[in-house]
Amino acid sequence: MTNKNTFSLGLIICLVVIIYFFLTPIISLKKELKVNQNDIIEKEDFLEKITLGKLLNAKDKVSTLLVGEKKINLQVKSILGLVKNYQVTLIVKENPNIISKKYDIKEVNGVTTINGVIIVNKSYSLPSDYGNGLTTDTLKAFQEMQNAAKEENLNLFIRSGFRSYLDQTIVYDKWVKKDGQEVADTYSARPGYSEHQTGLAMDLNSIDQDFADTKEFAWLNENAYKYGFILRYPQEKEEITGYIYEPWHYRYVGVELSKELYNNGNWLTLEEYFEIDSKY
Ligand SMILES: [Zn+2]
Repeated sequence: MTNKNTFSLGLIICLVVIIYFFLTPIISLKKELKVNQNDIIEKEDFLEKITLGKLLNAKDKVSTLLVGEKKINLQVKSILGLVKNYQVTLIVKENPNIISKKYDIKEVNGVTTINGVIIVNKSYSLPSDYGNGLTTDTLKAFQEMQNAAKEENLNLFIRSGFRSYLDQTIVYDKWVKKDGQEVADTYSARPGYSEHQTGLAMDLNSIDQDFADTKEFAWLNENAYKYGFILRYPQEKEEITGYIYEPWHYRYVGVELSKELYNNGNWLTLEEYFEIDSKY
């Protein structure tokens, strides 16, 4: 290589480094925040300003129901499209005025369970690396349900089962582009907030409201609970679940809980049963 070429190469590398640093987001945030249990924490409380970047995944309000340390992961995308991760530690102090809860709610490594049931909705999310397919129990229960439906000449199939954080990013971005964020939020989950990432949820047959008029749906509505599945987003529960009626979306919760939620045909939601919110 000639001296001139080495010089040009050096210059290019310098320029790239300079551009990279100039276009790296500048973020002003509190690394640690001490709060009281059940305080309302909004993202502005720990995130002051982002310049040259866009926040990808923070919710507007943070749940402080659980006492102890809570890590909040933030992802910021720079103008160049590079994603950087930041973390805020929330230290939640016990508030003695809060009456002991009926349910055993736990958050371990960013995954919330209530009485051992994984909860994912607009208030409870999953870490981006969580999940790797439908769980064995879910798949087995589905196959049993599918066989039982077949006996009645009904055809059930999984249209969409497990979706990774990345899959959901693509799906959600597509709907936001089509309908805008406000509308997209009524039927598509933000990355990390999709029940499909649990490996316990599936969309069956057709993601069309007309699916509610099919024989397959009528059968599912009466029988899915026998296999441990619940109709996760029932009609007229939009305010509670945060999602429109989805006759195609089923969530595996196990037979014990699905019987309770079936509620003799008047489906209860996980939010009603466990008295939890579903809000960004
Ligand atoms: Zn679904």
